Amino acid sequence: MNLGFIGLGKMGEPMAMRLLDASFTLNVWNRSPAKTINANKAGAVVASCPSVVASRSEIIISMLNDDDAALEVFEGADGLLAGNVEDKLFIEMSTLRPSTARKLATSCNIQGAAFIDAPVSGTVGPAEEGRLMALVGGKEADLERARPVLDILTRRIVHVGAVGQGSLMKLVINLPLAVYWHSLGEAAAMGHAGGLELSVILDVMKDSGASMAAFPKKIPEILGESDLVTFDIDTLHKDVEFIIETGMDFHVPMAAAKTILSSSKAAKENGLGSADASELVRFIINSYRNSENKD
Ligand code: NAP
Repeated sequence: MNLGFIGLGKMGEPMAMRLLDASFTLNVWNRSPAKTINANKAGAVVASCPSVVASRSEIIISMLNDDDAALEVFEGADGLLAGNVEDKLFIEMSTLRPSTARKLATSCNIQGAAFIDAPVSGTVGPAEEGRLMALVGGKEADLERARPVLDILTRRIVHVGAVGQGSLMKLVINLPLAVYWHSLGEAAAMGHAGGLELSVILDVMKDSGASMAAFPKKIPEILGESDLVTFDIDTLHKDVEFIIETGMDFHVPMAAAKTILSSSKAAKENGLGSADASELVRFIINSYRNSENKD
């Protein structure tokens, strides 16, 4: 089967590599051409624009930053929908606002193409290992068509409802994750200010009920011993913005999310946008330490 893949970033590249390993013919495009080099070496055909990818592929996967990127890639000049896309299937796997997923679906359907949103739980390691969890919104028949592709990328596929519901479920997951990094920062700031060693705090947290799945692997980054970036603060900030907007649509006040938005905004303003989200912990510790020094 001819597949298309748009967006070879931190998540997109390992996902594309898995599809190449599974012997799919893969047509790829990335806004910055340098990020297509590895996929090209592994056998992917690099296209000059998204519309060429769509013209060559039966199913097209996209893994992009945010709504603006997805709208540009689908609806821009030379975008995915610029040519004839009748009977093609688009699998949109970025984390988007539910309303944007529905807008993209409508644009695809008007042109006779099918669309599902299938954002994922899991980061770069699970993407490399095909152990993501896809949260799918769309018609059952479209999911069945997507399944052979999603099976290569995921350990679990959950059909949560109509188009947009996959994106809503993804935002539901991401709020507690964002809260975790923020509250870990505050907890560690308190312990550290009171004289506990940061390494001891993290070691004890890891072995307690206050851990979470993603935390132990991030301890080296929090201690400043590794600068590996899998999920950056820019992306966390964008997700929290979407979470607040979506919550407000349903009259949920989103108080915790608003607090996190101020700390991710401050971290971005301090040049940490492209740092790993776990850096938020050290940023919060240092912010409290600096304000203490001023008092
Ligand atoms: P990333 O490394 O920053 O990659 C983003 C991709 O989007 C790049 O290919 C980038 O192209 C492309 N892009 C950005 N703006 C564009 C535009 N205007 N037009 C065309 N392409 C554009 O991000 P990522 O970490 O892979 O995340 C991708 C998506 O997955 C996001 O929606 C994120 O929320 C979600 N996600 C991430 C993780 C994670 O752990 N990283 C986990 C689950 C879900 P360039 O190379 O040209 O910049």
